[in-house]
Amino acid sequence: MVCTEPTTSADTMALDSQYVMHTYARLPVVFVRGEGCFVYDADGKEYLDLVAGIAVNGLGHCPPKVVEAIREQAGTLMHTSNLYHTVPQPKLAKLLVEISGMTKAFFCNSGAEANEAAMKLARKAAKASGNEAKFEIVTAEQSFHGRTMGAITATGQPKYQKAFEPLVPGFRYVPYNDTDALKAAVGENTCAVILEPVQGESGVHPANPEYLKAARELCDKLNAALVFDEVQTGLGRTGKMFGYQHFGVVPDIMTLAKTLGGGFPIGCCLARDKWADVFEPGDHAATFGGNPLACAVSRVALKVLVEEGMIENSATLGDYFIGRLRALASPHVKEVRGKGLWIGMELYPDAGGARRFCEALQRAGILAKETHVNTIRFAPPLVATKDEIDWAMERIRPVLAMP
Ligand code: PLP
Repeated sequence: MVCTEPTTSADTMALDSQYVMHTYARLPVVFVRGEGCFVYDADGKEYLDLVAGIAVNGLGHCPPKVVEAIREQAGTLMHTSNLYHTVPQPKLAKLLVEISGMTKAFFCNSGAEANEAAMKLARKAAKASGNEAKFEIVTAEQSFHGRTMGAITATGQPKYQKAFEPLVPGFRYVPYNDTDALKAAVGENTCAVILEPVQGESGVHPANPEYLKAARELCDKLNAALVFDEVQTGLGRTGKMFGYQHFGVVPDIMTLAKTLGGGFPIGCCLARDKWADVFEPGDHAATFGGNPLACAVSRVALKVLVEEGMIENSATLGDYFIGRLRALASPHVKEVRGKGLWIGMELYPDAGGARRFCEALQRAGILAKETHVNTIRFAPPLVATKDEIDWAMERIRPVLAMP
């Protein structure tokens, strides 16, 4: 067998095209290195990363303490399976419980897996109530919860579901932030209501506090689990540790991933009080879930997040960035909204779509991601500085001034 290494970006993209399934509409750039808020392509060009690996690189690229933790744990113990105890897993669980107000953790590898765990947990708890029909899960239209079968069923967007029907039975969808519709959909047979405190994929739409309070009351009344998908909103992205803290509404079950590993893959489903002891041995599992490498790294990442003031930075820098984006006064911009460093810039329908602006931003050395056709989404690393945002604004201004 002749094995030729790719030598140019074009080689890499050709290799990708030939050997990797075409599930991503990648932009034509090959990244080879990252440091702080910047990534570098194969030609050495630098980009300010305002996507942060879709909110994964909250601590920036290659955060030194996380890199060091990976090195140390990789040379000690990477994996033994959940047949045995390992030291890092319960230590991470304890830290997460302390910061989240939850009671116990289940570890997995991604956001979708965390949501699968949450849904199974809610269904099992409901079955124990004696009502065999109590399996309905209510989720919001335009939500996003991941790409496994359960997670795409929970995701209230037909475009992600159509090709894969039949979906998992027992789901109902309601318009986000519509309290009356929620009240009409939630009943005796509801086992869970799953919501994002700030909807991301729909274009960064924060919940109304009254809506989440109504969801809390309904779940309490009907003995259903209130699940917050904090995969994207959790861990500082919105300027607080968790998105729910903006609203004063505490969920029963909460899912995390993205920033949780500081760039390393890990997911988690947290549950509180009576929901924390629903799973028994054999109910749920993940071979890689909670492996010592991911858990040791995640614990360091969480400590860095807290000790280095990144959550406060997300709040203050987010306000600054939103203010500067609003002050652009571009004729294309309909609205700028967000919380912390989690910002959506919605363009008018006649602006020609957000993707062309994201492509122009990339040429100018800024990474940003379009969502829902007309919204440019900014999710900078939480370590970004005012100077970096000013640097970004110098490049964003001419792009938003395009005809
Ligand atoms: N939930 C939310 C709110 C997300 O934004 C995402 C991914 O973007 C997911 C779940 C799925 O996470 P993953 O891609 O790690 O499975």
